[in-house]
Amino acid sequence: MENTERRIFGHSPGLFVLFATEMWERFSFYGMKALLIFYLTKYHLFTDDAGNILVGSYAAMVYAFPVIGGYVADKYLGFRKAVLLGGILLVLGHLGMAFEGSAASRDTAGVVTQDNFALQVFYFSMALIIVGVGFLKGNISSIVGSLYEEGDDRRDSGFTIFYMGINMGSFFATLLCGWLGENYGWNYGFGAAGIGMFFGLLVFMWGQKYFKGKAEPPDLAYLQTSIFGGISREWVIYILAILFVFVSWGIVQNHTIVEMILIAASIAALVRIIYFAINKATKIERDRLFVLTILIIFSVIFWALFEQAYTSMNLFADRVIDRTVFGKELPASWFLSLNALFIILFAPVFAWIWVELEKFNKNPNALNKFGLGIVLAGIGFGFLVLGCKGVSEGGQVAPIYLVLAYAFHSWGELCVSPVGLSSVTRYSPVRIVGFMMGVWFLATAGAEYIAGLLAKIASVDTSAPDSANGAVGAYENLFSILFYMGLIFGGVLLAITPFLKRFLHDKE
Ligand code: GLN
Repeated sequence: MENTERRIFGHSPGLFVLFATEMWERFSFYGMKALLIFYLTKYHLFTDDAGNILVGSYAAMVYAFPVIGGYVADKYLGFRKAVLLGGILLVLGHLGMAFEGSAASRDTAGVVTQDNFALQVFYFSMALIIVGVGFLKGNISSIVGSLYEEGDDRRDSGFTIFYMGINMGSFFATLLCGWLGENYGWNYGFGAAGIGMFFGLLVFMWGQKYFKGKAEPPDLAYLQTSIFGGISREWVIYILAILFVFVSWGIVQNHTIVEMILIAASIAALVRIIYFAINKATKIERDRLFVLTILIIFSVIFWALFEQAYTSMNLFADRVIDRTVFGKELPASWFLSLNALFIILFAPVFAWIWVELEKFNKNPNALNKFGLGIVLAGIGFGFLVLGCKGVSEGGQVAPIYLVLAYAFHSWGELCVSPVGLSSVTRYSPVRIVGFMMGVWFLATAGAEYIAGLLAKIASVDTSAPDSANGAVGAYENLFSILFYMGLIFGGVLLAITPFLKRFLHDKE
């Protein structure tokens, strides 16, 4: 059957539907994320601390929710319906973000008056996005995996192509929405993000026929059976999803609860994995699940290093990097788009390297790739430490160090992120692949939070005179800790790989 199917670059057309959908979804996601902290601090006059905490809570919740979205898709909805539900919630959420109300004002005594109605609309929109991503993000990745049979060695390259879509969305959004939002009005930036998501939903609705029934509910009749006075299970799920939006509306405004949820969700996920491994898995499934869990735990280290991009590295770019090029000062946020750019440029190179190495039976396994990825992230911070040591008299650091750091971080990301997605679909038992994909993103959620804690090491009191010089010292301190963290954790993983690799059962 596969042989007669039309192929694009050797892959099924379904991959390109998913590529385009996820490109637009990430366009909206990163377009909004690029504006978020500036919108909060400049328009609604949040303090830096309050803004950072809100961004952190939001990012953590966004990545924690796919556990529930994945579980519901595995058990009831199937991936296709789950992505559709997520897509609709996302369009609504991004539309809501475009409503800005009136700007906050500060009186002469320094008291800030905010537009509370606009802020509640904003929180509600965030909640729609949180639940929307929860249903979409993990499940769309699971559909990518479902396009490949077990043992199909196009799986990794399929995920690399998919990953390029993610980063194309991110690259253009960071530039476009940031520019629109900052220059023409926040609602234009957020609105552009929303239009992007609308395209994503349209592409998915049109292209869903290309998944050939591989993303359907596990038991359609069961899903459509009426419970609760004539309402089908399917509709009960949709109603519960909407209730979840209301619950998230409250939670996102309270970071202590977010913290508790992260801890509880991680423990619950581990318990479920162990329960499944003991009671429901065959020997090979158990072995693979064990190594997959180790991979996911190490991914927390990688993302905690990598996610400095949105906190300490971004502020470092703003405060310390010499951004003057040909007499013009570049916006600090432009450095962020380097990550997506490097991914787009190097994803095909990495995909090619893995395929070439495969020919000689030398393609590193997922454990080795993760170890390497964490080491590369560490090395990236090494360049920043070097930059800080070579600081100019005016307290500025040459931009090349930040460019090199982003390059190494992006190469590390290519060893971890697409490989991780691919590994989840490959090593997880099919019955819980959606849930495990959710756990994969839960690791990012935890990492976002840890990244925030780490970034605090370099907190700078910008009100102090001469803060730029102090800043370099604080950043050098943080970056050298992260440098060693990368080398040590990556090194440990590389060292234990020979003992773990047989649990992967790669040749079976
Ligand atoms: N940049 C990637 C994406 O948006 C990775 C996200 C993550 O897992 N932390 O899909």
